[in-house]
Formats: sequence, structure tokens, C-alpha cells
Amino acid sequence: MDFAAYENREGVRMSFNAWPCSRIEATRIVLPTGALVTPGKSIPEMPVLPYEPVVCEGCQGVLNPHCMVDYARKSWRCCLCDCMNNLPRNYHEINPQNLPAELFPTYTTVEYTMTNKNVKAPCFMIVLDTACPREELQDAKDSIGQLLALLPEECYVGLITFGATVTVHELSGTSPLPRSYVLRGTKDVTQEKVKKLLGLELTAQEYATYDKNTGSQVANELSAKSRFLLPVSECEFVLSNILEDLQPDCFPREKGQRPYRATGAAIAVASGVLAEAHSAQGARVMVFTTGPCTVGPGTIVGRDAEEDLRSHRDLDKNSAKHFKDATKFYNSMGIRLATSSHALDVFACSLDQVGLAEMKLAVDQTGGQVILAEQFGAENFRKSLRKMFARREDGTLEMLFNGTFSAFCTPHVMVQGCIGPVSALAVKSKSISENEVGLGQTTSWRMCAFTPSTSIAVYYEIVNQHSNPLPHGQPFYLQFCCRYKLSTGEIRLRCTTVARRWVESSAAPEIIGGFDQEACAVLMARVATFRTENEEAFDLLRWLDRTLIRAGTKFGEYRKDEPETFRLPPNVAIYPQFMFNLRRSPFLQTANNSPDETAFYRLALGRESVLNCLLMIQPTLTMYSMNGPPQPTMLDVTSITPDTILLLDGYFFVVVHSGTTIAQWRKANYQDLPDYAHFKQLLAQPVGDAHQLAESRCPTPRLVECDQGGSQARFLLAKLNPSNTHQTQHQSGWEQQQNFGGGEIIFTDDISLSVFMQHLAKLAVAS
Ligand SMILES: [Zn+2]
Repeated sequence: MDFAAYENREGVRMSFNAWPCSRIEATRIVLPTGALVTPGKSIPEMPVLPYEPVVCEGCQGVLNPHCMVDYARKSWRCCLCDCMNNLPRNYHEINPQNLPAELFPTYTTVEYTMTNKNVKAPCFMIVLDTACPREELQDAKDSIGQLLALLPEECYVGLITFGATVTVHELSGTSPLPRSYVLRGTKDVTQEKVKKLLGLELTAQEYATYDKNTGSQVANELSAKSRFLLPVSECEFVLSNILEDLQPDCFPREKGQRPYRATGAAIAVASGVLAEAHSAQGARVMVFTTGPCTVGPGTIVGRDAEEDLRSHRDLDKNSAKHFKDATKFYNSMGIRLATSSHALDVFACSLDQVGLAEMKLAVDQTGGQVILAEQFGAENFRKSLRKMFARREDGTLEMLFNGTFSAFCTPHVMVQGCIGPVSALAVKSKSISENEVGLGQTTSWRMCAFTPSTSIAVYYEIVNQHSNPLPHGQPFYLQFCCRYKLSTGEIRLRCTTVARRWVESSAAPEIIGGFDQEACAVLMARVATFRTENEEAFDLLRWLDRTLIRAGTKFGEYRKDEPETFRLPPNVAIYPQFMFNLRRSPFLQTANNSPDETAFYRLALGRESVLNCLLMIQPTLTMYSMNGPPQPTMLDVTSITPDTILLLDGYFFVVVHSGTTIAQWRKANYQDLPDYAHFKQLLAQPVGDAHQLAESRCPTPRLVECDQGGSQARFLLAKLNPSNTHQTQHQSGWEQQQNFGGGEIIFTDDISLSVFMQHLAKLAVAS
């Protein structure tokens, strides 16, 4: 089976592409039955239909090529719930020679254009931290200038600045001096309070004469839409002037004290203004910050500089003073924002942590974007912003808004839940499983904001009774519908229907034949990170190991109690290696990372496409040499040799590592000699490739160029299989070194892949 071909056509990858036909058989396949769905994926051949879908009365699923149509009776049978439906009147003329596009067998993914009487462009609320030195503020202003230039001019913008207090700026430019409202930074403010404080309410007298249909001049003049949120084209001049005059927060700051920074209150105000003026229209609260919140709700750390920011150790010991309160506050912000379908973005340029660990859930449940950099002026930050606001061919932004993602399935299957940058919506459905995985108890989730690569993991439970098995080879169907907004305000509904087959038992060859180990590794990685974050006292590594051993016992070929006979079929063979690297990854290992970094990594793993997530778990390594074209090589310390350049792609960073000889030649400037053009080319190629990889991602990965033995080489070494360590050196000394041609060693006590595999074989074959 060509899983990538399926993905290109449907935007879906499944761990198992054939499912055992009863609940009992399903438990025997050990690993999760799930799908990774990319509802915004660019699918060039997908038709965009200029009308709304035909919907099943039984299950609200959408008419698709797998439904049987009775042309004579003008009816159709839903392939999901078996319900008979009448065809709508305008479909009465259809016949096998004259089909609407959504019934073409090849169009299993189509998009419908939905009517929208209230077309509004999205809104971008800039929330700018001014509690920083003048130069940093200038860099931040420049970034905002860059951002404004990237926005389509019909998009709305707003500006809130904060330090000790929170300032909401009027952008209308009707008064000669720009007006602004200063609110306290010490208190949470609700939407109602924001309305009062900003004078968005009508007086009793005005309210009495107010006509809901026609509005009134007073109401229009008072509204947030005419004062605080305006289209870029109308307020660019005023906004640039305000930014130009903006000074660093002047609140007195004593020695040994952190500046007042009311990030939490500022987010609350931003969410209030947007909820009032732009609810369900697609909006982002974009926080540009240079440090942690130190005052009011959402405080991450006290102002006394002696007080350290919390570390993983503090979190483990439950001794982080502000963590619980701050997390609770930001989570409530996340819920408020998600209710209006608005996203929270955090752009943090700071050497310190800013509190991303506390804000993670709010960012995650609203589909917001995080970019971390050392400064706003950094090239990486600018590139990330450019990528985030990239346009599609038709000129609309690549980013998508206000999505609702729904999963439909046959009655033999239940939806356990989903893991992705979403929040659960309360819906009633017969397909809700009691056994929750991720965000469950629903079949619909809100995606406040997402991108073409955002991928949602959906987990299923097969509930069919063993006594009543489904016929072997009979197809079953899953449907994914995602209703969302483009940056033009146009509403689309993307509908994907996938067909797979039941097989009679967990031992059927189709089970392994249809096993997508890459998709399965990502589904497992998401469950692992979700559980480690949400379940206290959960022994994650033990659970991962036991699951892997059971999978080895199930899918391996071996003679009982003879580990040396243990083999895995090709479709399963790399899976243990993914688990080996997942165990070592920063998603599960928190040593060497701050809580903010861990949150950043986990956010990305929870939303990216299968291939991107795999790179995060298990980077790719490519070798460049004079002896031929670049080729993939083992992710192993023995791959380091003096006369090659290695390119490691770990998604978050890309490393170009020169072997000793290469580095010596380069330092001696051989590349400038006329006879060494091929050497010059060898040096340039991996760097060029690294830049190309970086272009396609947001945030832009960090590019590390280093030499063998240099301090930066640790970025490479940390990701390689430690087959050759100071321990193994010690054991076999000279002989080992000879074997590996004087290769590198890694100083670590981690076990190597081969030891890991030996353990797996031993335990999997044990009777
Ligand atoms: Zn139906």
C-alpha cells in the first residue's frame, strides 16, 4: 500500500488500513486504530464546488461517492449510517452519465462553498509588551511594521500595549490627538467590564431609541469596529504614528527588580474587545513579549530578581509558586478565546522564559502559533513571521480561521477523542466512545486557527460484537468534515470520505500489509505526550515499553524463547526504532530543557503533519562526499567520518556538520583554489539544502553549522544512536576503535539501539 499516495489524495493517514472486525480481535492488534487528518492540506486536484452539500438526515454526514444512489426512486443510502434519504429536487436529473462532482469515484475529497451573509475579513489584535529597553522595543515595532505589510488590506487590526498597565489604542484618527484608554494591569477583566471601561455601551436613553436593524449613528461611533479595530487600509497611517511615538514603559523600576509586565491582563482585555466586536469571525490575539508576566493575573514569577523562574525540578516537586494559578488563569483565557473562535499567538523574544509552559494549553486549544527567538530583529523571527503570513496562489492568506472539525463513522466504530490544536465542542452523537483518548466525549472540535499542515489525530474504538463479525473484505467508511473560513471571510466545507476494509481476524495478512508504521508512531507519540501532561503518576516509559513488547509478540516472527529468531516484517521493522528515539526525545525527556522549551516542542508535535512529526522524533541524516551524490545514512555515531559532511534535519534545527578533514581544508581555503571547484560545491550543497528545508517551516528552524569536535557538534551528537560510547570504548578499547575507523564516541549512559532491540527480542519471544 502506498500510504503517501492516500495522503496526497485524502489528507489522511491511518495506523491500520484494514481493521479487525470485532472488539476482541481489535484489542489483539495492541496499537491504536487512529487517523491523522490534515483538513487544510493543499490538494491540487480537489474540486471546489460552488454549492452546499447534501446532508444525511440520519447522521449529518455528507453525500459522497461511496453512497448508493437510486436514480429511479430519487433517493440515496448513507454509507455511514445506512439511512435512506431523498435526493433534493435539484438532483432529480442526475444519472450515471450526469453526476455532480461529489459523486465522482475519484473525488473522495471535495470542498463546498457555503453561503455567508456576513462576510468579514479576520482581525489581528497586536498586543505589544513595552516593558523592555528602547532598542528591543524598536525591533518589536519593526516586526509589527513587517506584519502590517504582510496583511491583506481588508484585514482588521487593533493595538494594545502593556507594561504595568494595559493601554487600548483608538485607531480611527478622527481626533487630532490619538486617544487611548489605560486600564489596570492587576485585574482580570471580562468582556462586560471591557465594554464599560472602553465606553462601548449605549446609555439608557440611546438604547431606548436604538433600532436593531438600522443601527444608529451614536452606536456606530461608539462601536469597537469604528474605534479600536479597523481595516489595515484605513488605519495604517494612524497605527504607524502611534507606534512611532510609543515609548518604553516608564513605570519606576527599582534595582534588583523585574519590570512590571501585565501580560495576563493584556490578553484578557484583547480577548474582551475581540469577543465584543468580532466574535466567530476569525481573529488572533498576537502577543509580542520580551519577558515573563510579573504582575496581575497570569503572573509567572515575582518582581524580585532573586526569585528564579520555575524549572522542571520545581514543577516535579510541586514547588513552583505561581504555576498552578497562572496555568488556571491562562486556561480560562483559552476557553474564553475559543468560545469566540479566536486564537492566542505568543511571539517571545527573550533570553528568559516567558511562561509558555503556563500558556501552552491556551495556545494549543485555540490553534495559536508560537515563535521563540532571542530578539525580534533576528533573521529567524522575521522569516517565521513571513512564513506564517504567506499567501496562497489566489492571494488569500495560507492560514485558516474559525474551523469546526467533525468525525463521522459507521455504527461499528466509536470515536474515542482527538489530539491536536483544538478544543472540544459539546455535541450529541451515537458515535462517542466511553474510553476517552485525548479530547473525547464529542465528535466535533473547534479549530480557531490552523494552517495547511495542521494535522489532527483521531482515535477510534472498534465496538462490533465478536458473535456477530462483519464479513471479511467488506468496506467501512470514515468521514471528516471541516467547515472553516478563508482570510477573505468566505466559508468552505471540506469533506473527505475514506473507505477501508474489515478483515476477519487480527492475524489476517492485510493487518500488517496495511500497517503504516510512520502514522502509528505519531499517533503513539501524541498519546504519550498527552498522557504525560494530563495524568499524574503515570509511568510513561514503562507503558511505552510494554506496548512495544506486546506489539513485538503480536507482529514478530520467532520461535518461542529463542530471541535470535526474532524478526519483524518490513512494514513494522522501523517502528521499534521510532519508539527508541521517542523515548530519548525532548517530548518525554525534560532534562536539559526549560519548561518553556518543552512546551514549545510538545506544541509542534501535537499539530504537525506525519512527516514533520517523524522528523521531530527521529531526524534524518544525509551524507555528502566527493564520491557521489548525497545519500541518506544511519542516524548513528559511526556515520561521522573525517571526509564527509552530514546534514541532520531534526525539524526544529538543521545541522550541517563537517568532518575533520573537510574542516581543515575549508580553514585552509582550498575552496578558493581554481582546481578545487568540486570542493567548493561540496561545501555549498548541504548549506543550500539546509536553507531550502528551513523555508517550508514555521517557526523557521535554527541552522547550526559546525565542525567535528567543535562545541556546536553537540546538536548532532545528541540525536545520534550511541552505538559507540565511552562505555563501549572502555569495554573493548582499541579493537572497537579499529572497527569504526576512528569514529566519534558519545559520552552518555543511554543504551544503544542494538541493546534496545536485543531487549525487545528477548521479552517479545518469552513464553
Ligand atoms: Zn448517515
